[in-house]
Amino acid sequence: MSNPRVLFVSSEAHPLVKTGGLADVAGALPVALKALRCDVRIMIPAYKSALARIQSVMQDVKEIAVLDIEQADAPVRLLETRLPGSSVRVWLVDSPAHFDRDGGPYGPTGGGDWPDNAQRFALFSRVAVAVAQGEAGLDWQPTVVHCNDWQSGLVPALLSRRTPRPATVFTIHNLSYQGLFSWETFQSLALPQDLWSMHGMEYFGNFSFIKGGLVYSDMLSTVSPQYAKEITTPQFGYGLEELLRHRGDRLVGILNGADYRQWNPTRDAYIPYPYNTYNFADKQRNKTALQARMGLAQNASVPLLGMIGRLVEQKGFDLLLDALPELLRTHDLQLAVLGSGDPALEERLRAAARAHPGRVAAQFGYSEELAHQIEAGADIFVMPSRFEPCGLNQIYSLRYGTVPVVHRTGGLVNTVVDATPEALRAGVATGFVFNEPSPAALASALTRALASYASPRMWKLLTFQGMQQDFSWRRSAQQYLSLYRQAIQTCA
Ligand code: ADP
Repeated sequence: MSNPRVLFVSSEAHPLVKTGGLADVAGALPVALKALRCDVRIMIPAYKSALARIQSVMQDVKEIAVLDIEQADAPVRLLETRLPGSSVRVWLVDSPAHFDRDGGPYGPTGGGDWPDNAQRFALFSRVAVAVAQGEAGLDWQPTVVHCNDWQSGLVPALLSRRTPRPATVFTIHNLSYQGLFSWETFQSLALPQDLWSMHGMEYFGNFSFIKGGLVYSDMLSTVSPQYAKEITTPQFGYGLEELLRHRGDRLVGILNGADYRQWNPTRDAYIPYPYNTYNFADKQRNKTALQARMGLAQNASVPLLGMIGRLVEQKGFDLLLDALPELLRTHDLQLAVLGSGDPALEERLRAAARAHPGRVAAQFGYSEELAHQIEAGADIFVMPSRFEPCGLNQIYSLRYGTVPVVHRTGGLVNTVVDATPEALRAGVATGFVFNEPSPAALASALTRALASYASPRMWKLLTFQGMQQDFSWRRSAQQYLSLYRQAIQTCA
């Protein structure tokens, strides 16, 4: 079978627009697919910030189509550029009324959602459908449309009503974001009325964009084998577990890869002292630089904990904050945090930094540069997520010789091997894994990590074992290729 032609529909793609892991995937998987000779094009909204970013790297942009889209007051332009650093084409859906505004992709800078998100992503989805069906006047049509998360959930739903049509694949990057809207909003979108059904996109009295993907796509995937199992249980399924169990023969877990072009301590433009296993001592110099940058006491021997992520309940910053006072009392350690999100969590982190000057430091907002510097400068990476579809930072940490301490959930299970005596003997241990998302369990795993840190021989074993792990995209991209082939067969 010839390789599929893939339209990769995403609401974010690194480095053009990013709020989390979806952007990392959308910025790397298409590149890996292209390397496997798959013809793939990315479609994202033409956010003001994305256009500015393209301009700042002096990438060309050209108009390739103008479309009349249902419910849009003005014609929608399709713009083409290349993903910076690659030859993959990116198509930007340019509807100024929907996407030309300051702020984030889903809401204003201070937090919250845009009130017209349903309209914004319905329009985006309609454009994807038009391109998929060859109605945009382009000389290219996909054989597979790969949709991601709720923002493109309407695409499989709308395509399911068309024949012929390309096959559809829907990837769940995080089931907790579902794109739920009221009946009134559903009415305002002028969608086919029968989509409002419990077997369609209705969800306990709301209209659920994500259900469009879950119900109507030919194949479903999520971003780790463990999360694929977890979302079929009430604990992680948000009431969608039965639907997902019902579609179990169509649901696979494919672990995200790491983009080692971006995340590689040997050639990371953001870090002052590149290093690998041969000059691992240079990691210490990054640590001192990080301590200086964040206002921590400059001391190469004190273990430095790092944590990066969106400040949301999922990530478990509160668990670390609860465990912190006792840990700081009983251990010589430092903590460097980078996050953005919930103002209450931000305030708690600020308070911890104020209470422990020189030992705890936190920076807020989004900083790609500091994220890399924390990965390089920290000794231990803390990831106590309550749930974690895949998680990328623990994978980056492994490559940076920054030993991850993680909760036993989702993709963390598939990527970190707990340093039990057996795993250490077998030479497979890469981090520390704890069972309960509680401050006490986290503290006890951190205590184990700190004890290992005190033994240079043991620490070297763990860090080097981690640095040798290979989670590159190539293997995952191969799995996506076979998923696309399955979807094509299913749809035929
Ligand atoms: P999620 O998608 O749930 O946010 P992942 O671990 O899959 O979690 O991906 C998070 C990505 O976003 C990582 O690349 C991480 O470094 C990055 N990130 C999260 N918060 C920030 C921040 N404040 N500044 C810079 N990068 C961040």
